Amino acid sequence: MFPDCNYKENNIKEEEFLKHLREEHHSEITSISKKEEISIDMAEMITVSNSKVFINS
Ligand SMILES: [Zn+2]
Repeated sequence: MFPDCNYKENNIKEEEFLKHLREEHHSEITSISKKEEISIDMAEMITVSNSKVFINS
């Protein structure tokens, strides 16, 4: 999802990944929400669901 993100562990829970997103990728999430004209919450949800493949890999 994010080119500079090397957060990768086995069996990451969504809540843990969400915490990481909020701590490390706040600016990216903010720019997604502006670009797509959606709320921060929605941008986080989309990012989490787009990242599920790598979360579970
Ligand atoms: Zn990251």
